[in-house]
Amino acid sequence: MRVRADREVCVGAGMCALTAPEVFDQDDGDGRVVLLAPVPPPGLRGRAAEAAGLCPSGAITVSDT
Ligand code: SF4
Repeated sequence: MRVRADREVCVGAGMCALTAPEVFDQDDGDGRVVLLAPVPPPGLRGRAAEAAGLCPSGAITVSDT
């Protein structure tokens, strides 16, 4: 799994960091997403995908490669 997070699209809602804090953080300055783990280990993939589904702006995408 590969995760991408588009900071230009992010609105800083923080759902990603709440759902998968090992994968996503928020910038201390502007609150936008900071991607911590672009290739999450198996144990975190489910929550990374869940975070993508919860993001209100569609900033997070996940793919198999
Ligand atoms: S949930 Fe989406 S909009 Fe909110 S901080 Fe994360 S990437 Fe940004």
